[in-house]
Amino acid sequence: MERRLADACAAAGRARAEVTLIAVSKTWPASDVALVADLGQRDVGESRHQEAAPKAEELSLRPGAPYPDLVWHFLGRLQRNKAPSVAGYAHVVHSFDRLALAVPLLRGAQEVGRAAPAVLVQVSLDGDTDRGGVTPEEVPALADGAAAAGLLVRGVMAVAPLGADPRAAFDRLAAVAARLTAQHPRATWISAGMSGDLEAAIAAGATHVRVGTALFGHRPPLTH
Ligand SMILES: *Cc1c(COP(=O)(O)O)cnc(C)c1O
Repeated sequence: MERRLADACAAAGRARAEVTLIAVSKTWPASDVALVADLGQRDVGESRHQEAAPKAEELSLRPGAPYPDLVWHFLGRLQRNKAPSVAGYAHVVHSFDRLALAVPLLRGAQEVGRAAPAVLVQVSLDGDTDRGGVTPEEVPALADGAAAAGLLVRGVMAVAPLGADPRAAFDRLAAVAARLTAQHPRATWISAGMSGDLEAAIAAGATHVRVGTALFGHRPPLTH
């Protein structure tokens, strides 16, 4: 993976240090996260609260936890009633797509004496907001609302549309991100790119890639 990232950065004329790898460990046990943590991996991504919470507890939060410095990224659809609990371990929520999540996130963090997670506004690049995210036009108002509520807006996140050219989609995301940074100077992150399309994302300016399969192998089918 390190080689692939280095090659993608070189091809894009970017420094490797501009891109952070998030190891997406959903469906894999805490022991697998520990393996990559032992190799120096610090940023970890999870998409389901019921799975993420016990892993964060075991690896980072309980007294004597072995990896207290892991950075936990929450990537999945976030229900309002789960938001306070997610704020108990997540450092960054990539799937912020409605203002109703702001107060629960802030309250959950406050209850356990933590800083509230930073948020990335999830952008839907194909207009199908059923898969999460807001349209590009909705980003400024949502970011303004989140910041006014007291959250740190750190940037944008997107998943490439199914069956479309990822590079064109990520270029559209980069344009959304540039407009957001003009309004919110600390909103400099672009979370884009997964196992199948990280080269396109890095070429389009991604600062964070979220990689599961290419690191951990193929996931067993998700069960709910
Ligand atoms: C699962 C997931 C990933 C990782 O996908 P891979 O194709 O396994 O690399 C990235 N982002 C989100 C939001 C995910 O849910």
